[in-house]
Amino acid sequence: MTQEAVEGSRKGLLLIHTGAGKGKTTAALGTALRAAGNGMRVLVLQFLKGSWHYGEAEAAAALNALPGFSFELRKLGRGFVKVGGAEADPEDLRMVEEGWAQAEEEILRGDWDLIVLDEILYVISYKMLDPERVAEVMRRKPEMLHLILTGRNAHPLLMELADTVTEMREVKHAYQKGILAQRGIEY
Ligand code: ATP
Ligand code: MG
Repeated sequence: MTQEAVEGSRKGLLLIHTGAGKGKTTAALGTALRAAGNGMRVLVLQFLKGSWHYGEAEAAAALNALPGFSFELRKLGRGFVKVGGAEADPEDLRMVEEGWAQAEEEILRGDWDLIVLDEILYVISYKMLDPERVAEVMRRKPEMLHLILTGRNAHPLLMELADTVTEMREVKHAYQKGILAQRGIEY
C-alpha cells in the first residue's frame, strides 16, 4: 500500500463490546490506554457507575496529570440502577438524560480522538434511552473520532452502524463458584 492509501484509510471507528461474558469494560479501558499512549485525547464516560471506587478512575487521573497525556474519566451515575420494577426510577432517568446530553456534546465538540461510552448499551436495553437518539448522533460524529460502546444486549440498530462488534462469551465466571468481585480485576 502507498502512504496515500494508508492515510486515506484512516477513519474514526465505531466499536461495540457486548455479550454476557466478562471483559467489555476492561477491553475498552485497554484500548483507551493504548490510545492515550499514542498521544490521543481520550474521554471515558461511565453511565450508571457512581461513587464506588474503581481503580481505572485513579489510574486515568494519574495519567491525565502527566505532560503529553490526555485521559479523562467521568462517572455519570450513582453506582446502581433499580431494575425489574415496572418503571425506571425518575432519578436514574434524570441522570441518564444528563449523561446523554454530556455525551452528545462531547462527541460533537470534536476535541477528542477516542470516547468510550461505558455501559451505555445497558441503559438502552433497560429502555432508559432511545437507541434511535444514539444512532442519530453516531451518524453525525466527527469523521476521525473513535467511539466504543459497551454493555450487554447491544441494540441491532447500533450493531448495524458499528464497524467492529465483539461479543464476549461466558465460558465460566468465578462468581458462579461464589467468589466475590476482586479488587484490580473487577474494579
Ligand atoms: P469488566 O468490567 O470486568 O470488563 P464487563 O464490562 O464485561 O466486565 P459488566 O456487565 O459491565 O461486565 O459487569 C461488570 C461486573 O460484572 C464485573 O465485576 C464483572 O466481573 C461482572 N461480570 C461480568 N460478566 C459476568 C458474568 N458472566 N457473571 C458474573 N459476573 C459477571
Ligand atoms: Mg462493563
